[in-house]
Amino acid sequence: MKRAVFPGSFDPFTIGHESIVLRGLDLFDEIIIAIGYNSNKPGFFPIEQRIQWIKDVFKDYPRIQVDAYQMLTIDYCRKVEAQFILRGLRTSADFEYERAIAQVNKTLAPQIESAFLLTLPEHSMVTSSIVRDIIRHGSDASQLLPNRMKIKPGDYSFKESSR
Ligand code: ADP
Repeated sequence: MKRAVFPGSFDPFTIGHESIVLRGLDLFDEIIIAIGYNSNKPGFFPIEQRIQWIKDVFKDYPRIQVDAYQMLTIDYCRKVEAQFILRGLRTSADFEYERAIAQVNKTLAPQIESAFLLTLPEHSMVTSSIVRDIIRHGSDASQLLPNRMKIKPGDYSFKESSR
């Protein structure tokens, strides 16, 4: 049984994230989308809301679970007995950032492998921070969000982000 954790802030989850998870299903038997959070740095969207949105997106996919954690990602992987960490790569900046984390993780937890999928070209410009900006200004970000994720323009406008 190959179990992968797809860790991230998902603040919010986007079509870029959705695509990585769906493609990951060809590689892994089970994927846990895990929101890593720090209660001192709550982010923009409430954690419960982020979890609910992702659950809605994958409600027809029994091989996908959604969770949140407050610990090192490798400790979370050990806790849920996942052998893989799945991440997405958009740019060379993503690569450099991910390389350092993955190499440290490999040093600390040699039994856990990091696996990377390159973003589809049409998703390479999609970032959660751009989506937050659109929503904060009361505009419609639905083109950048999975179909089942409806965020009404206006619901979150001009709420301050801590990021
Ligand atoms: P983090 O704060 O840990 O970077 P994010 O929620 O921003 O969390 O991203 C989680 C993972 O998804 C990261 O591996 C990131 O590179 C990847 N990712 C983010 N946006 C995209 C995208 N548009 N296409 C592919 N992968 C993406």
